[in-house]
Amino acid sequence: MDVVRDKWDLVSHSCFRLFPCLSDPVGRSDLGLRLALVFLHLMYLGVLLVFDKEFVHKFTTDPWYVGLYLLLFVAALAQYFFTSCTSPGYVLDAMRDVNEGDTLCRGSSVASKQPASSKDVNVIITVDGSNGGRSIMESNGASWTKLVMGLYPPGSSSSSLRNWTCTYCNIVQPPRSKHCHDCDKCVLQFDHHCIWLGTCIGQGNHCRFWWYLFEETGLCLWTGILYMAFLKSNVPKSWYVYLIVVLLLATLSVFLIFLLLLLIFHSYLVITNQTTYELVRRRRIPYLRNINQRVYPFSKGVCRNVYNFCCNRRSTYLEPMPTAEELEEKSRPYTCLDVLSCRCC
Ligand SMILES: [Zn+2]
Ligand SMILES: [Zn+2]
Repeated sequence: MDVVRDKWDLVSHSCFRLFPCLSDPVGRSDLGLRLALVFLHLMYLGVLLVFDKEFVHKFTTDPWYVGLYLLLFVAALAQYFFTSCTSPGYVLDAMRDVNEGDTLCRGSSVASKQPASSKDVNVIITVDGSNGGRSIMESNGASWTKLVMGLYPPGSSSSSLRNWTCTYCNIVQPPRSKHCHDCDKCVLQFDHHCIWLGTCIGQGNHCRFWWYLFEETGLCLWTGILYMAFLKSNVPKSWYVYLIVVLLLATLSVFLIFLLLLLIFHSYLVITNQTTYELVRRRRIPYLRNINQRVYPFSKGVCRNVYNFCCNRRSTYLEPMPTAEELEEKSRPYTCLDVLSCRCC
């Protein structure tokens, strides 16, 4: 028994030397999930290729149909890896952007109230790897704090500074940020930590995450249609093939319902400019808890929200809290005139 254990330790140490990321349990679990996802995809495609002679015959009779399906298959897998490798947008990176004068502060109200130029910010970030913690020293101490506090409603800054300072990163968080305990970093526009992707979903990758959901849902739906067509076809099938296809189709249906609900939910978040965290924990977020539940504080209208979500992700930006006047305007009940003038857009 000891010999087997020694051999296993030797093999595992050799693996860890070749692939250092595997020495970390989280890295191993991420790799396992990714392999499981690729395996699942290949299994569903493999069953079609092996048993469904009509589908294979379509390679010659209907190459466009099969080509499009395979394209979606590859695109969904590529989008998965693309999303999982994209940074969700960390607050520390935003601080560095501010340091380089590259941050875009959106919202005219904040721009007019925020006299501090981003070029004035001079932040030195020291990463202390020995204990896993970070110490941040600001040579122009108030600059980042001043910039971020300008994003909150006036008058609340001095009393709430402590609430908005991350105790783990020791930095003042802009609105909509949250510390992720899995990533051990503060994330801009934190949505959730996705175990399936092995990363946080935030400002930097929420759009890609939506596209991944869209492509995966489309692929599941198309695969389900192909499986049902196979079950209905006249291709001779033995009982075990029938059983395998029915079991896989039942599992696929569960995946499809889950993905479809997730896609609808995230589409709702996009058109109202919310995050999952804000929606679920609204009462626990100090700057949101007193806002009317019917009001979407960061929404700029459906069209603008969708545009910002899809097309305005090239630069890190810090989104300001709406002013009291803006919130009052948003909470005003809809009238017939608002519907005619398309107020939401
Ligand atoms: Zn943090
Ligand atoms: Zn995370």
